[in-house]
Formats: sequence, structure tokens, C-alpha cells
Amino acid sequence: MPILNRAAELQSEVTEWRRHIHERPGLLFAVEETAAFVAEKLKAFGVDEIVTGIGRTGVVGLIRGKGEGSRAIGLRADMDALPLTEITGMPWASTIPGKMHACGHDGHTAMLLGAAKYLAETRNFNGNVAVIFQPAEEGGGGGNLMVQDGMMERFGIEEVYGMHNMPGLAVGQFAIRKGPIMAATDEFTVTVKGRGGHAAQPNRTIDPIAIATQIITNLQMIASRNVDPLRSVVVSVTKFNAGFAHNVIPNEATFAGTVRTLDEAVRDQAETRFKQIVSGVAAAHDAETEIAFHRNYPVTSNHADETAYATAVATDIAGAANVNADVDPMMGGEDFSYMLNARPGAFIFIGNGDTAGLHNPAYDFNDEAISHGISYWVRLAEQRLGG
Ligand SMILES: [Zn+2]
Ligand SMILES: [Zn+2]
Repeated sequence: MPILNRAAELQSEVTEWRRHIHERPGLLFAVEETAAFVAEKLKAFGVDEIVTGIGRTGVVGLIRGKGEGSRAIGLRADMDALPLTEITGMPWASTIPGKMHACGHDGHTAMLLGAAKYLAETRNFNGNVAVIFQPAEEGGGGGNLMVQDGMMERFGIEEVYGMHNMPGLAVGQFAIRKGPIMAATDEFTVTVKGRGGHAAQPNRTIDPIAIATQIITNLQMIASRNVDPLRSVVVSVTKFNAGFAHNVIPNEATFAGTVRTLDEAVRDQAETRFKQIVSGVAAAHDAETEIAFHRNYPVTSNHADETAYATAVATDIAGAANVNADVDPMMGGEDFSYMLNARPGAFIFIGNGDTAGLHNPAYDFNDEAISHGISYWVRLAEQRLGG
């Protein structure tokens, strides 16, 4: 079963929607314009129930099938953009400086709208399909908020599926894996409190810069000496601030960064070791520390049965040669993880072709992928709901 004919017919219309959304990006929860566009389209398709304001600016549409049953599956897209200034020069480029759809969420939203149109026309399934459009994937935890707002219970969602485009994977191809596919993305800020003084008399100071750099070097022991070498962990210090003059040792130094893991046990271990190393190295040099360790998005972990269903549907559409069912996990994060912690489901990558990478100001979603994405959503809904 290749791309569905109707999905191919929808390609040009959905491309227009995608480019329209692209021109007017919103950040985090401030996606009101896109959310209004989504709600208006769902209404025009005759979607049975449309609820806005879930997870602040999220939208859910419920499409009832022809057949019996109250089972629902959730298909999820994200709507938010990034704080970047676009350099693609495309006719549909962002009209708002400092905001752009550099992660392809415009494409995700448009493809799910295309699927909603198809499913509302055909209704060739039993039970219900909930199309989920979430805000604030890029750091605000909008998916988490939708779950907390009771979305799963309210719409009777029993399984949930997500999709993200992947630059470098050919258009028409899919990639997925059972188990962890995206990392937990914890964040830290550490302040090392010493005692400042004259740069020529370091013996009279507690030098927070010298101590902070020792701590940072030691943090790499988490990956090299603490965590099982067959497990994944990344500790990246990405900010360092201290000092103001050549001849003054300051009182404090601050650094910040992220810890990425693919397993909750390793996540706990990394946090524990992180705190021990920071406090221990500082204590060895008579400094005090303040540690803010924030548990951000959890591991995005695909459930076994649902991954098998998703893989079968992708294979049905694209052919076995175009589906990588054991793709390497990535150390980036996804707040679809919260939905997968609430309900069984699977997250799949769809090829975006040879484009600039995600979060790059030269990136653009590849409209050629649209019919493949719509076909995947539609077949998945029909297969899971036994149409
Ligand atoms: Zn992103
Ligand atoms: Zn994204």
C-alpha cells in the first residue's frame, strides 16, 4: 500500500496551510494564531468536537468513526516555533523577525490537519480519533500541561502517537525504535561562592574560577567513570560567567548546562553524582556552592506493541526498505515523552530529505513529505481502530 491517493490529492492544499503557518510563527504558549487557524480548519472539516485552551493554547479535535465503539487513539502534532531569525529567503519565510519555524512544527501541524480532513471525510474506523495540537514543545512542556489538564481521560485516549521530521533521512522514509528514542533533558545552574581579592595575592582568596573549572573537569567523570559504558549520558557545561577585571579575583563564578540520559536509573545516578562532585570538589577547596538542578523533559520511550503497530503501518506505506525499525536514539529531548508516560504509544521520525538541520536558521520543512505523513496518520488510525 503506497501513499493513499487522497493524501496525494491533499498535498497542494496542505502545502498552502503549512506555508501560511510558517509565515506567522509563535513561541512556546504564544501560538494563538496557529491554534485559531487549526480550530477553524477542524470546524470546516466537520470535526465532531473541538476543544481549545487545553494546556493553555492547545487544541484537540475529536473525530467519530462510522463504526461502534468508544476507544480513542490520539495523534499529536506540535505548533510552536523558535527564537531565531530565518535566512531561507523563501516566499513563505517568517514575517516576524526573531521567530521562525526552524523545527518543522509548521509541517507537523499541517500534516495532522490533512489527516483530520481525510478522517473526517471517510470515518472508516470504529471509535474515535483525537487530533492533538500542542503548544510549547520547545521548552515549555506544553504536552505535559495538556496531560495535566486531563486530556487523556476527557477524550478517552487509550494510545497516543507522535511524529517528527528528520533532516538527512530521505523523503518517504521513516525511522523508529522500541524503547528510548529521545533523551531526558535535565538542566543545571551552579554558583561557586569563594572569596574575592587581589589577583596578585591568591593565597588570601578562595578563587571561585579556579574551583569552578576543577568542578567542570571532574563532571566528565560521570560519563567516563561512573555510568556503565554501555549506557548513554552527556554532561555539557554550556555557560560560564565570572569576573570583571584583569587584577581582581571575583567572589563568585556561575556555570550552567544540561545532562542528557536515556534511562531513568542512569538519570538518577547522574544527578546524584553531579551533586556529589560539585559539593565535594568545592568543599575540598573551601568554597560553598548553590546547585539548581531542574528535571526537565523525561526520556521519550516507545512502548513495544505500539512501536510494532507504527512500524507495520510505516512499512505498509513506504515499503520495508524505507523503514529503519532500529534507529539510534538521539540525545535531544521531546515533550511528547509526557504523553508516552501517560498512555502507551510510539514516536516516529519522517524523512525531511537533504535540508538544513533542525534549529538552523536555514532550515525549512520539506513539503514533499506531506503526503507521506498524512498517509501514515490515516493508516495508523484506521488500522488501530479496525476500520
Ligand atoms: Zn526543536
Ligand atoms: Zn521539534
